[in-house]
Amino acid sequence: MFALVLVLSALTAIELVTRRIAWSSRGINLQAWAVSLSATILLLPLVQYAVPGSLIESAPLWLSIPLFILVMDLGEYLFHRAQHASPLLWRMHSLHHSDHDMNATTTNRHFWGDSLLKALTIWPLAALIVAPTPTASAIYVALSLWNYFSHSAIDVNFGRWSWLINSPAYHRRHHSIRPEHYGSNFAALFPVFDVIAGSYHRPVGFPPTGLDERPEHIGHILLWPLRGARLPNGPVAAADRPAH
Ligand SMILES: [Zn+2]
Ligand SMILES: [Zn+2]
Repeated sequence: MFALVLVLSALTAIELVTRRIAWSSRGINLQAWAVSLSATILLLPLVQYAVPGSLIESAPLWLSIPLFILVMDLGEYLFHRAQHASPLLWRMHSLHHSDHDMNATTTNRHFWGDSLLKALTIWPLAALIVAPTPTASAIYVALSLWNYFSHSAIDVNFGRWSWLINSPAYHRRHHSIRPEHYGSNFAALFPVFDVIAGSYHRPVGFPPTGLDERPEHIGHILLWPLRGARLPNGPVAAADRPAH
């Protein structure tokens, strides 16, 4: 938690110097964070279950830790693809895409049911493949702090090395409202999954983000899928919609 606050504060400090971000965006993101954190604390114990065993249970740490991280990241990638392919999941995921001022705090703008769904799907699936030992889980959580950097409004582009690890420019292309950017760069940590699946696109520039529909208060965050139902299945801006 201390590391998270430290990372978030450092990124926000850089954003404050380099780019003007609406404070209302950060306010909504912090509310979404509080809601999903509460839901996780209250509901996660109800949906969590132990897997009977793992395919890779007793491998040495140098192998089991990178494998666990890769399998978890693959799970995140597949779940994210499903969030854009399924109208029902998009109703929830569109909350994350609704930020017009994408910044480090957007990392926590997720519908509260998302992590519960992951607890029922990709997390147990990953645990069936590689044992989620406390060390592997702790290292994965620490690595996930990278997501704050990827969502930050800091203009960092790894150029031809973009396939190596996620970056602000790489993930911004995923959030972009430009039609030519749709359906690209789904990876959480490692873009190699985008490369394999053909969804990898080297990022260029600093495109605008957001959706027409956006939350204005905590009630919208709590009941977001009802508002998300009004949105088309994908990040489509008003200008690109049919006129009728
Ligand atoms: Zn997405
Ligand atoms: Zn994102």
